[in-house]
Amino acid sequence: MKLLEMTGDATSRVIEADPPQPSPGEVLIETARSAICGSEMKTYRGKGMAGGNTGHEAVGTVVELGKSVTELSHGQRVGVSAVVGCGDCVECDRGQYTWCKSARSRSQMHAEQFAIHARACSPLPDDLPWDEAALLTGDGMGVPWHTAKKIDRADIETIVVMGLGPIGLGNVLMQAHLGRRVIGVDIIDYRVDVARRLGADVTLKADEALIERIMDLTGGEGADVVIDCAGQRGSVENSFLAVRRGGIVVFNGESMEEMLAPSRDFNRREIWAVGCWYYFMSEVPEMFALWREGLDVARMITHQFPLAAAPEAFALFDKGQTGKVLLRP
Ligand SMILES: [Zn+2]
Ligand SMILES: [Zn+2]
Repeated sequence: MKLLEMTGDATSRVIEADPPQPSPGEVLIETARSAICGSEMKTYRGKGMAGGNTGHEAVGTVVELGKSVTELSHGQRVGVSAVVGCGDCVECDRGQYTWCKSARSRSQMHAEQFAIHARACSPLPDDLPWDEAALLTGDGMGVPWHTAKKIDRADIETIVVMGLGPIGLGNVLMQAHLGRRVIGVDIIDYRVDVARRLGADVTLKADEALIERIMDLTGGEGADVVIDCAGQRGSVENSFLAVRRGGIVVFNGESMEEMLAPSRDFNRREIWAVGCWYYFMSEVPEMFALWREGLDVARMITHQFPLAAAPEAFALFDKGQTGKVLLRP
C-alpha cells in the first residue's frame, strides 16, 4: 500500500509499505479521506518520522477485524478518534478518552490503510459524505465543538479568534453558527479571506494596531472571549490584551513556552482561563447533530489531493495558503 513518509525539514515522499496487521481488538481501515492538521507541522518541519507520518484525522471502511472485535463489521464506514483510551476506566466509560490516564495517540493515517482500536471508531450515518465525516469525527471540528461547550454562557457576544489555521477557522465557523459576533485575526491574507467566507463579522491582520482596532470594535472594553489558536508568544500576549475585564481566554494552540504572569494576566482583571485539548469520543454524535441542523463543515475544505500528491499538499499547507486540506488515498 501507499504511505506518506515525513522525511524531515519540510519534505515528504510517498512510499510503498506493507499494510499494518490489526492486533487483537483492532480493525484495519481502508482510508477514504485523511485531513492535514496544523499540529503535524512541528514534526513535518523538524525531524520528520522515519517510515511514517503524523496523520490522525481519517475516515474509511473497515476491511479486516482483529481478534475479539464484535462491535464493528466488514464494510462498515467509520470515523476515528486518534486518542484511544484504555477502555477500562471511569473516563473511558464516559467516552472521555483524552482524560484516560492510559490513553495513547495514534497516527500513520496518511496511508491507504491503517489499523486502530475498534473502540476508537464511530460508525458513520449512511447519508454523511466522506468529506464532512472527516471533519466531524476528527479534531478539525472536534476541538471547536469541545471549545464551544466550555464557553456556553448566554452573556457572551463577541469572540476573537487569534490564528486562522484549520482549528482557528473551525472556531470561526462554529461560533458564527452559534450566533456569536466573530473577529478573526491572522497575519496571512489567504486565511483572513477564508475566515470571512466562513462567517467572521470582521477580520483583522495581526499588526501593531490590532489591539486598538479590537477595542474600537468592542466599545473600548475588549472581547468577551478570545480563543488563541496560534500558541505563539505574540498571540498569547494579544489574547490577554484583547479580552475584557472578567472575560475568558481559551487556549487551543499548543505552546511549551512560559509566558504568563498570574497577577498581570489573571488576578487584576479577573480573567477566566480555559484549556481545551482534542475532544471527547462521546461528543461525536453531537457533531453529527450539528451537521444535520445546518453546520456546513465542508466549507472549511479549500483543497483536496490524491495521496500520491501529498508532498505537494503539505508544502502548500505549510505556506499557510489553505484552509482544511483533505487527502484521498
Ligand atoms: Zn489534529
Ligand atoms: Zn481509560
